[in-house]
Amino acid sequence: MKKPTREERQRMCTRKRRYRTQGDALDAALLAGVSRRREAYLCPICRHWHLTSR
Ligand SMILES: [Zn+2]
Repeated sequence: MKKPTREERQRMCTRKRRYRTQGDALDAALLAGVSRRREAYLCPICRHWHLTSR
């Protein structure tokens, strides 16, 4: 896998909220009412979890 550019890093990591666990991320999606449209992924950059923004 190629190294993400600074901009890609911002898009997939820096600008997003971080969660300590997958459960935390999914709970947050649930609370926001978007759990069906979001998935949690383990970020290779910060090693925390983020939600996809689809
Ligand atoms: Zn991250």
